[in-house]
Amino acid sequence: MKCIIVGAGTSGLIAARELARYGIDAKVYERKKVMKISTSSGILSLNGLRELHILYKEALLNKLFGARLFFENTVIEVKAKEAKAYSVDRTVLNNKLMEEAQGSGAKIFYGENISKERLREISGDKENIIIGADGAISNVASFFGFPPINRFILTYRMEYRVRKEDEEFVELFFDNKVTKGLFGWIAPHGDNTEIGVGIDERFGKSSDALRLFLRRKEVKEAIRNARPLEGGANIIPISLRKKFVDEQKKVLLVGDAAGQVKSSTGGGIIFGGHAAVIASKVIKDYLNDNASLALYQSLWLKEFKKEVIIHNIIHTLYSSLSNSTLSGIASFAKLFGIEKLLSKHGDMDRPSKIIRGMLGLKA
Ligand SMILES: Cc1cc2nc3c(=O)[nH]c(=O)nc-3n(C[C@H](O)[C@H](O)[C@H](O)COP(=O)(O)OP(=O)(O)OC[C@H]3O[C@@H](n4cnc5c(N)ncnc54)[C@H](O)[C@@H]3O)c2cc1C
Repeated sequence: MKCIIVGAGTSGLIAARELARYGIDAKVYERKKVMKISTSSGILSLNGLRELHILYKEALLNKLFGARLFFENTVIEVKAKEAKAYSVDRTVLNNKLMEEAQGSGAKIFYGENISKERLREISGDKENIIIGADGAISNVASFFGFPPINRFILTYRMEYRVRKEDEEFVELFFDNKVTKGLFGWIAPHGDNTEIGVGIDERFGKSSDALRLFLRRKEVKEAIRNARPLEGGANIIPISLRKKFVDEQKKVLLVGDAAGQVKSSTGGGIIFGGHAAVIASKVIKDYLNDNASLALYQSLWLKEFKKEVIIHNIIHTLYSSLSNSTLSGIASFAKLFGIEKLLSKHGDMDRPSKIIRGMLGLKA
């Protein structure tokens, strides 16, 4: 038996690393010719990086101590005593994962686009288990008839050659007239500053949202007439597929391909990484003890379903209310100590910890 992984993004590489460590024959096919992430930005929780045993030190760009959330008439500031999240260079991070996967025996082939014809061939060999780690618009998912992802966020990011003044903070701007469905952001990226927007695809284009966002005074102050270096549009899936494993066809989807993304922030690296770890372990148990591959979905949901639900509630709340109502709620929450609560219990991957903190339960 061997594992064919389609896509050498973070999820595919973590799966390759884990499978190879179990001694399973893992082959990764990546359509890009070289390892380069177009979404070079990445803000990841330190907990998440550690849980996934990702060697992040060389990729570390900025340590983040907090965030400022801007609403129409109020700002919420969350600040921890220690850095809880890092801004990382994702190309460096994935290169590290690639080295680890290869070092453990996985084979990675670049410049290999896995078309539907190739998938037909691969699935024709009953010795193959397939992992679809091929991102938001997954060929693997559509070829094998998985249920669809229903909601997408369109993004546009630009990187400017200027160091962010307050580089220990990210700023998020909630403005439903500009970025309905997500937010705009100003984030540090090493010596540069990243400006970005996300908008629900039903409500507009990300290029229009960016144009409006660039007019904000906070954004103008942050980029200070600096030169844009690079940037571009992208897409984030924000709904989970109803099914992300097909036991009979021996196909498992991980990461963006499965829609394993936090809908309230658009972050998918940690959720997808955990999916890759769980899927690999289930494959090992399937090969050694004939365990069911379907366990992958139930185990992932066992760990993340409540987090997905909370992210969805937060997302629905801030994207469906008017700017003034949202701002009113934020002011009210501020009055009742939300800043202290988030600073103490805030966890960008697992918001259930905040609720547990509020209820005084053990994390
Ligand atoms: C602007 C922006 C900012 C983001 N910021 C963050 C953040 O700060 N933190 C965070 O956690 N997440 C962030 N995300 C989300 C994050 O980028 C994704 O969740 C993550 O990349 C998913 O990893 P993946 O490996 O599942 O998919 P991908 O990274 O999309 O990798 C899929 C890989 O499959 C390859 N592929 C696709 N089709 C084929 C094919 N047919 N044959 C072979 N190869 C194929 C692609 O080339 C790609 O390399 C951001 C996303 C965007 C757009």
